[in-house]
Parts: sequence; structure tokens; C-alpha cells
Amino acid sequence: MSATVLVVEDELAIQALISYNLRNAGLVALCANSAEQAVSMVNNVLPDLVLLDWGLPNMSGIEFARILRRETRTKSVPIIMLTARDEENDKIFGLEVGADDYITKPFSPRELIARIKAVLRRRLPEISEEIIVAGGLKLDPITHRVSAYVDGSLSKSIEVILGPTEFRLLHFLMAHTERVHSRTQLLDRVWGDHVFVEDRTVDVHIRRLRKALEVSGKDSLVQTVRGAGYRLSVESMENAE
Ligand code: CA
Repeated sequence: MSATVLVVEDELAIQALISYNLRNAGLVALCANSAEQAVSMVNNVLPDLVLLDWGLPNMSGIEFARILRRETRTKSVPIIMLTARDEENDKIFGLEVGADDYITKPFSPRELIARIKAVLRRRLPEISEEIIVAGGLKLDPITHRVSAYVDGSLSKSIEVILGPTEFRLLHFLMAHTERVHSRTQLLDRVWGDHVFVEDRTVDVHIRRLRKALEVSGKDSLVQTVRGAGYRLSVESMENAE
């Protein structure tokens, strides 16, 4: 599981301990010493999860969580609150802001990593290493292989050859079927960059993905929703059969 975790923590010793453990667990760690710094980092790169200290100088962790929840682009980023407080009221307050989990200091690094991974598995299925089957396609994140079942048979399949970007794009679409994703959302979640990559890039890779799927007749799963973006629809496929 290779996901980017933004650690917002003003105590540098704790920040170093957390980022060390994240990297050991195969995760990418970005660190911010303040909520203000975190705001500008999130503007550039959308992290897969935010590990957020409650007590920060100037802007508090709660205020930063509110900012994330207010914006369309950041509102669904998973948040784990990290705090020295362990009173029930604070916990409820943290959950009301929309935190996915709540960890009290001092914490065990092993437990912290386990809880981060649990939230990532639940909220971001496209970064998990589990095999996904949808619409007659089977995608294996570990071997990086995609196969398409032929004639509705599970025994007969052909391999679909994809470039790395098309593979990530298909992985994301298969993990979130039926939902429409805007170009900006796809840039954030598949490319990890909505600022420097042009919207048109998405169209180019969608076209390549469809082309690669043509041999298996599965290209029609990838649908264009005018004025909104793209989706992978399994339902239309089932209806057609
Ligand atoms: Ca603190």
C-alpha cells in the first residue's frame, strides 16, 4: 500500500517518530509544523490521509479540519486526529468535525500504523493491493496485470496491456464504479497533482485506456459524462447482456 500521509504536528520529535514509522510501513510521509503550512501543502498535493495534531500554534487542528471539510476538493480526505487530550467531550468534538479516527498521545507506533492502514483500506480501495473484479475485468495490483473475461466466461480471458498511468486510472475507476469523477478529481487522485498537470491530460489517458480495452470489447465500460467527467459503469454492461 503506497499512500501519501500528511503529518501536521508542531512537536518535531513526535513528527520525526511518526514519519519514520510511516516510511517503514511503506507509506509516503509529508510533514507540516503548522496548520498554515499544511494548508499550502494541501493546495499543491492532495494527501491520501491527514494525521492531525489537535494542539497546534495559531490555527488549531480542529480549525484546519474544518477548512478541509468545507472545500469540495478536500472534503473527503480521511483525517485521523492526534491529541494529548483524552476527555470524552474532545473525542466527540473531533468526530463531529468529521475525523475518521482519534488517537490519544502517548500512542504505540504499531497501533498508529495499523489504524492508519485500516482507515486507508476503508476509504481508499484503489490503493489497496487486493484484486478487483468489475464488469468482466480483473485487475491485480501486485502483478500489475489486467485480464478481461471473454464471452462472459470466467475460464476464458485475455490480457489487457496498459501503460502505468492507464493502469492507475483503471484501478481508481474500478475501485469506484458508477461514480462520476471530474478531471480535477482524477488529477488529484490518480496523478496526485491538479496544479501543474493540464485537464486535457486526463482525456488523453482515457482515450488510451479505451483503446487498450478495445480488443476485449470492454472499452464501453469507460463512459464520458458530458460536462461532468468520466465513470466506469458496470451496470450498463450487465443490462446489455
Ligand atoms: Ca502539538
